[in-house]
Amino acid sequence: MDYYQILGVEKDASQEEIKRAYRALALKYHPDRNKEEGAQEKFAQINNAYATLSDPEKRAHYDRFGSEPQTGGMPGGGAGGFSVEDLFSQFFGDAFFGGQGGRRGNVKPRGEDLQVDAEITLEEARDGAEIEVDVDRLTTCDVCEGSRSEPGSTPKTCTTCSGSGYVRHQQRTILGSFVTEQPCQTCRGEGVLITDPCKKCKGRGRIINTEKIKVKLPKGIDGGYRLRVTGQGNDGPGGAGDLYVHLTMKPHPHLKREEEHLHYVAELGITEAIFGGKIRVPTLDGDKEVEVKPGTQHGEYTRLRSMGMPRLQGGGNGDLCVHFKINIPSAAKLSKEARTHLEAYAKVVGEHPDDHKEGFFEKLGKAFRGE
Ligand SMILES: [Zn+2]
Ligand SMILES: [Zn+2]
Repeated sequence: MDYYQILGVEKDASQEEIKRAYRALALKYHPDRNKEEGAQEKFAQINNAYATLSDPEKRAHYDRFGSEPQTGGMPGGGAGGFSVEDLFSQFFGDAFFGGQGGRRGNVKPRGEDLQVDAEITLEEARDGAEIEVDVDRLTTCDVCEGSRSEPGSTPKTCTTCSGSGYVRHQQRTILGSFVTEQPCQTCRGEGVLITDPCKKCKGRGRIINTEKIKVKLPKGIDGGYRLRVTGQGNDGPGGAGDLYVHLTMKPHPHLKREEEHLHYVAELGITEAIFGGKIRVPTLDGDKEVEVKPGTQHGEYTRLRSMGMPRLQGGGNGDLCVHFKINIPSAAKLSKEARTHLEAYAKVVGEHPDDHKEGFFEKLGKAFRGE
């Protein structure tokens, strides 16, 4: 493939444009960040293209002959070959991938990230409590300290790759020569072979441990959020991965949450609604006395200001809404005594339940006809 096409630039692109294109692509396809299949080849191509196009002399030669100058062409060295790693670290600086000189061969992989579910209570979310989750983590084996070899034994340097972990392939095509580096198959890119595997971890370097991990909740957190706990994933040669805690809310026996507001349904008998009075409402700070106004209607509500949940982004608390639900008993279920009293009440206030047996319009019609 054409070097200009590989970098996605025009034939007359300036050095600055080439540099910019290379930077973006190299970051995108660097094998430490891009685990997709073919990313490594793509990364090698990008580096090949940049090595030629960023050098005015090589570029002129390439423009004229469609290939880079072949001088010697020693695999892995000389003018024709170059190291992808050297180019990358030259461009981005050694600090790019943190320590280790920025060379891919020396960048040790981090442990895997882990996920765990945690159910939290309203009170914990409100207080920003510290919770504990059980996590099955792979931790560095304490016997071999992650070396995978039985203490006292030394791993053998891989002869296939001479310990580099990578094997170079040089390919000559009509468009020029490509040097690609691939992880060594023999040692799986590690550069060494374990001859006497550690007995405790069976040569894996890690053992599984169930650990209790403390997680501090942000005040006002809700179900559906995912919290990251840095460094509490699996251990790896390059440090531990992260732990992701998925939160769900445990249902509260009395209160329902809606973002920063809480809702409570207070059931009232008909006389409680008529006469009003005081009821006890459960809140996150224990029961609280709440006034019911005489003549409270079904569906009315009252707000207990700031007795809801803290707002996640700050700015105080939501409210606790007390919704009144009036329980109207069915006559069939009333005791004889209660029924007698209610009938007496109806008579006194002039309510005639029997009137409703006949439809309102029928009655109106009868009155109209003088019946
Ligand atoms: Zn071990
Ligand atoms: Zn090897």
